[in-house]
Amino acid sequence: MAERPVPTSSALRARVHGAGPTGALAALALVDAGWEVELIDPLSAEQLQERSRAYAITHSSRLLLEGLGLWQPLQASLAPFRRLELCDRALGLQVPFARSDLWGADLLGGQGDAVGWILQHRPLMGVLLEAAGRQPQLRLNLGQGALPSEGPVDLCVAADGHGSPLRKASAIRHFSRPYRQGCLTVQVRLRGSEADQAWELFRPEGPFAVLPLGGDAFQLVWSAPLSKLRQLEQLDGVAFLDALSAALPDQLQAEVLLDQPRAFPVALEWAWPLQRRRTLLVGEVAHRCHPVGGQGLNLCWRDVAELRRLAARVSAGRLPVRQLCGLYARRRWLDIALVLFATDALVRLFSNRSPLLLPLRHVALGALGRWGWMRQLSLRAMSDGPCRLWTP
Ligand SMILES: Cc1cc2nc3c(=O)[nH]c(=O)nc-3n(C[C@H](O)[C@H](O)[C@H](O)COP(=O)(O)OP(=O)(O)OC[C@H]3O[C@@H](n4cnc5c(N)ncnc54)[C@H](O)[C@@H]3O)c2cc1C
Repeated sequence: MAERPVPTSSALRARVHGAGPTGALAALALVDAGWEVELIDPLSAEQLQERSRAYAITHSSRLLLEGLGLWQPLQASLAPFRRLELCDRALGLQVPFARSDLWGADLLGGQGDAVGWILQHRPLMGVLLEAAGRQPQLRLNLGQGALPSEGPVDLCVAADGHGSPLRKASAIRHFSRPYRQGCLTVQVRLRGSEADQAWELFRPEGPFAVLPLGGDAFQLVWSAPLSKLRQLEQLDGVAFLDALSAALPDQLQAEVLLDQPRAFPVALEWAWPLQRRRTLLVGEVAHRCHPVGGQGLNLCWRDVAELRRLAARVSAGRLPVRQLCGLYARRRWLDIALVLFATDALVRLFSNRSPLLLPLRHVALGALGRWGWMRQLSLRAMSDGPCRLWTP
């Protein structure tokens, strides 16, 4: 929990560059911690909501949203999933994760009812920007020609995405390695899955996520060589649905396309260090991972949760503002490193038919299927972050 700030006479000022899902939430978190904030983005409020994407939301993100009073407004847009099917298509093995595999499910009350939630980009950004518009301490500076206001700030938050101009201007080192795989997202009507069931299918060409959006609507995140995905993107609806049937297990049948398939490159990226002087990096500016396991945005929001805790300590006079950035960087690197490593390892281990790796996968999935404690540990790492594995 973030400490409740005690208002000080001279307000602390922050400027957040980038009003995507990370920057908008970081601005709200700083206001909640007692700061005055300017949120700046070259996109207008309408453009910021336009992306057709759905995020898998884990319990670490739920806790942050609850703390900021945003969980309730988002409730109507959250599609819970109560079961996650992990399938290795090359081995023909399937491991179900259920609510009972959640760590301390009995202590979570009503929230332990779901393994996770799927949230679409548009309602998420709608709620964040509306909440931002209601805050008198938050100045929204959006749209073409948006320029930072004059005057110094105590903290500059770079949340301007993976191509971050601010990171470049701060001369922070940035490691980037594109995956051969890209990923294609599309929404479809699907038969053969429960409405509250999510799927992670490991196929030799890459992972394939099937995420419930409510009713029979599902978001698909299809990883495969980018060149193949670019060709799929060009197909007409009927040909695309045919290609989809060949990729999905027999029991799942996609019937209708609900939006236009879109292919994206995917990369492993890490910026180091996570701060320079009064500037710190949050979200995809700092790290970018493969979408396997739906970890990306949740990792970004754990950056925000740490920023919120430290900003509240500064407001309460318990941490000098000059120490905030350094402490943030020291506290965030391990979680980031572990998630980047784990997602990369999953992609390398499962995206092949290597005779050396198939037995290893057989043993790993067999152990997951047999022992509940292993499912609990892996679900906890995915849901609360890997660093929580050694904290009570
Ligand atoms: C295909 C795909 C599927 C994914 N699926 C999932 C999933 O299921 N679950 C999950 O958790 N994550 C998922 N992710 C990752 C997720 O989309 C990202 O983690 C998330 O978008 C990062 O948000 P962000 O706010 O850090 O960056 P962005 O969303 O990139 O926002 C950056 C913002 O900065 C602004 N900006 C750019 N330049 C400037 C500037 N000079 N000044 C100010 N602002 C600027 C941009 O306009 C933009 O609004 C997926 C990613 C991909 C590619």
